[in-house]
Amino acid sequence: MRDLEREMLATAVAEARAGLAEGGIPIGAALYDPDGALLGSGRNRRVQDGDPTAHAETTAFRAAGRRRVYRGTTMVTTLSPCWFCSGLIRQFGISRVLIGEARTYHGGHGWLAQSGIRVVLLDDAECAAMMRKFIAARPALWQEDIGDE
Ligand SMILES: [Zn+2]
Repeated sequence: MRDLEREMLATAVAEARAGLAEGGIPIGAALYDPDGALLGSGRNRRVQDGDPTAHAETTAFRAAGRRRVYRGTTMVTTLSPCWFCSGLIRQFGISRVLIGEARTYHGGHGWLAQSGIRVVLLDDAECAAMMRKFIAARPALWQEDIGDE
């Protein structure tokens, strides 16, 4: 992992930890501009806001505000993005996705890669451990988040 990628992932992990401390689902994300400057970060806020669409990638995207083009931007997320957030990434033409881990949940990143988006799977042990611990402690909440009956 390169230094900038490590720094980006650290931003997403800090968001995930803050979410966990709030009683939420520990998934964090951030959007970076083509020069590596932070545009916005966010965390899953399903529990905190009572909003089922408040996924980490989506709250980070909203926090970044308006931008005319997303070419060259990077979305970093602690966990493989779900179909909803993968749709957002593709819809707005975000160029690259850095993923902390895809061991505990395999979202739409294969589809993103097929769509020409650069996908970097970091396979970070800390991200996987955080999700495993959360899923074991709150299985019903996790199933609600991913729309799994
Ligand atoms: Zn999502």
